Amino acid sequence: MVRRFLPYGIAVAAVALVAGALGLIAWLLAIPRIETFLLVFVLLVGAIGWRYGRGPAIAGTVAFALVSDYYFLPPKSLFGLDSLSDAIRLITAILAAAAVIWFVHVSRGRQILLQKRKDLLQDVSPVILQSLDADEILDTVAEATQRVIDYQHFRLYRWDEAAECLVLVKSVARADPYTDIDWRLVTLSLGEGITGIAAKTQRSLLVPDASRDPRLVYPAGTTPIVESILSVPMVTRGRLFGVLSLARLGIGTLNTEDMRLMEAIAAQTALALANAEQYAEAEQTIKALATIEALQPGDGPGGDSEIDARILQGFDDLSHSDLATLRVLQADGRYHVGATGGRLWPAEDAPTGEALSAADVAWLADPKVTIYVADPETDATLPEWARRGTRLAGAKASVFLPMRAGQRLVGFVALHWRRSRWLRPEQLRRLQLIAAQAAIALDTRQALERERGRAEALAELERARREFMQIASHELRTPLTVIRGYASLLDEGSLGPMPPVAQRALRTLLEKSSEMRAYVERMLLLARLEDGAAPPTMDALDFRRVVNDAIERVRPQVELKHGTLQVDLAPAPLTVLGDPERLGTAVDNLLQNAVKFSEGPPRIEVSGSRQNGKVHLVVKDHGLGIPTAAQTRLFEKFYRVESPELRNVAGTGIGLYLVRQVIEGHGGRVDVDSHPGEGSAFEIDLPAVAEPAARVPSPATTGEGGSA
Ligand code: ADP
Repeated sequence: MVRRFLPYGIAVAAVALVAGALGLIAWLLAIPRIETFLLVFVLLVGAIGWRYGRGPAIAGTVAFALVSDYYFLPPKSLFGLDSLSDAIRLITAILAAAAVIWFVHVSRGRQILLQKRKDLLQDVSPVILQSLDADEILDTVAEATQRVIDYQHFRLYRWDEAAECLVLVKSVARADPYTDIDWRLVTLSLGEGITGIAAKTQRSLLVPDASRDPRLVYPAGTTPIVESILSVPMVTRGRLFGVLSLARLGIGTLNTEDMRLMEAIAAQTALALANAEQYAEAEQTIKALATIEALQPGDGPGGDSEIDARILQGFDDLSHSDLATLRVLQADGRYHVGATGGRLWPAEDAPTGEALSAADVAWLADPKVTIYVADPETDATLPEWARRGTRLAGAKASVFLPMRAGQRLVGFVALHWRRSRWLRPEQLRRLQLIAAQAAIALDTRQALERERGRAEALAELERARREFMQIASHELRTPLTVIRGYASLLDEGSLGPMPPVAQRALRTLLEKSSEMRAYVERMLLLARLEDGAAPPTMDALDFRRVVNDAIERVRPQVELKHGTLQVDLAPAPLTVLGDPERLGTAVDNLLQNAVKFSEGPPRIEVSGSRQNGKVHLVVKDHGLGIPTAAQTRLFEKFYRVESPELRNVAGTGIGLYLVRQVIEGHGGRVDVDSHPGEGSAFEIDLPAVAEPAARVPSPATTGEGGSA
């Protein structure tokens, strides 16, 4: 209550105060009360109106009409008008005050409105600029504009770079004649209609009476509307994004002030759209990069052609080209079409085109060319094939993107447009980024292809080698058995007495054929192990028998070298689950090495026992021993110890490899303990199988002492 009437009190008090002050001045200076004081009051009332509004100003005027009786009219004791001239003077003063109050009121109102709009604009701009999605921006702008200007129709046209026309993307009708009209029917080119002119000149246009303006384009069959129109281009850094158009019913209903506001909104919209576009492009680039990076050679149902297609898609999404081709370097050293695309490429058209030679693409192979933008019609650098192609395609602008892996041009993409087109530097940079990623993908694929080819050739070679070994060893085995059989018969004297010289020769024959048999067995086993086709036959067997058989096989060699064989096998069966033939070959190898790597007569000790649920075999010799450094590698395939004293010892380096393969294949393990110059002990552990209690122990040989 007090707040409401305070301005009135202040107004009246101000008038009284000024009247008092003026009276004092008049009295001090002894000047007669003059009418120029009137001006002071009028200004005072104007100031009150500006500060407190119309009401207090009127109260001030009344107050000053009362005091004026004392000041401007000859002094009287009471308020009263004496003459007509007095009355006219007073009325003039009151009218002047009224005029001032009215003027102040109007301009104050306008200022408040302007401030309000400015505040609104300030609220609105961050909302517009915040959004990174073009559609969202358009919605925000339509809504924001509504808050600032009370329009009846809002249209937003976007400049379509590809089609070179203005396309209506948003239309908000808020009054009758507009709701029935389909403005989408109107597509405007540059310079066409008010909107087109605003776009072309990049300047705002205000049409106070649209119905009388011949430049206006209405959809066919629409009668011109009596309206005021405002068209404002959305431009940022010289680039046109579109046009904002507002309409209000009635003549002159939109003014230059509205135009200023709209210009501010349009500038912000353009900026927001540019940001959104950049963001979308960056997102697209990242997506393309990620897709290309994730590509694996041979991926997807289409395999490599699928990769090509996806790479091209990445370029296409970003450039919106009319026609696009990806060419890829292939094994024949030529550049083949990998994929084709673009907005105008016929969907069912398969990638075609002759392969290009290195000479054809030499200009792109130049490391100085990072990206090549061409106007195909005038460009002299373009080779003939490219010019011919672009002419056929009707291309007005082309971009070639080389993809290099090191110095090698692994492929390139050609993008074409059917109209002149200028690509922004950041767009080119993004395309380059994709080209770099695509180059890696293509290079990896080519490397893998080469690798795959090499691996296949190697695998084939390996297969042939194994086959040969298997056949050869198998074929050697039968005749060898026959030879050894006859030699044994001769040795035993079954075929009649032999002269002593022949007997010695026969011994050598037997020994060498044993060696040969061992080699053949080894080769055969190796071939079988590597082939994996023939699985071992696993039976419960007494490992002592395997060992004894092997000892009998090696005995002739030991005897020939005048060596000793000491065997100590457990009295109870050493049952294991295994393949007797393979285990036999493994033990053979250990025994033969013990003979082979002993200087002078070999002294070999063999012991077999059961320890902690394992069958444990030790083959010990007192031979050359093995250098410590070599011990870790002994069981590798083809590994042989390099030393001068072993130069004359024949071997292949597969013996111990086979031992380990066989033993580990039986779930066991093999180890060596050796000291150079003292000898070696090879130890084998195999999982033992519990012997059924009912079974009578077999009459195994125990503690057999060999002799020279
Ligand atoms: P190879 O006997 O055909 O050379 P192996 O795989 O059987 O192939 O043996 C690999 C190497 O291990 C041999 O070349 C030899 O140097 C060493 N070696 C194996 N057994 C013994 C052993 N009992 N005493 C000393 N060296 C041995």
